[in-house]
Amino acid sequence: MLAENISGIKQEIGQNVQLVIVSKYRQVSEIKKAYDTGHRVFAENRVQSLLERREQLPHDIQWHLIGHLQTNKVKYIAPFIHCIQSVDSLSLLSEINKYAAKNNRVIDCLLQIYIASEDTKFGLSEAECHELLQSEEFKVMANIRIRGLMGMASNTDNKEQVEKEFKSLKAFFETIKSGYTFEQFDVLSMGMSGDYMLAIECGSNMIRVGSKVFE
Ligand SMILES: *Cc1c(COP(=O)(O)O)cnc(C)c1O
Repeated sequence: MLAENISGIKQEIGQNVQLVIVSKYRQVSEIKKAYDTGHRVFAENRVQSLLERREQLPHDIQWHLIGHLQTNKVKYIAPFIHCIQSVDSLSLLSEINKYAAKNNRVIDCLLQIYIASEDTKFGLSEAECHELLQSEEFKVMANIRIRGLMGMASNTDNKEQVEKEFKSLKAFFETIKSGYTFEQFDVLSMGMSGDYMLAIECGSNMIRVGSKVFE
């Protein structure tokens, strides 16, 4: 069942889109089954569960963090995290840079951009994103690599609304990519179980899928 779900999604999305399996709320045994299909890229939204799962699962998993990160928890994940998708402030980025340096690492980060019409979600506005990238503090951070942007569309059945949000994030992604100098800026993380095909049509190349994998 789970193996079919994963191979079905992978066929649907093709080679150029990265599937990140969201394992939050799942049993370790279920995650291990997904791992046993050969998949290695998983995401959690909370530091505590990320640390627990990392302990209990093989260490070649590439873990992504997709939920709000408090600055005081950065130190716990800095030694191993593969990508922090939920960077939503300069102070957080600065903390990630500090602990990445302590661990002799360069940590891949995505800037989370606020695109939904709801006010419950975290993320930077477009103006805040520019402000962050233009700050002197950001320019000297040597231990983080901004790889792209992440966004979550509104939780609604209104397809036009969701499409509008995805398209605006894709446009913003292009603006940022051409407006600044990055070592490697190539990830647009948008799309979840209910909307990933639409997200891909709108330019996503990384999808974060939980329910559709495990149910
Ligand atoms: C839970 C979560 C997902 C996955 O949601 P599903 O609908 O289960 O696929 C993706 N992104 C973020 C940020 C999440 O918190």
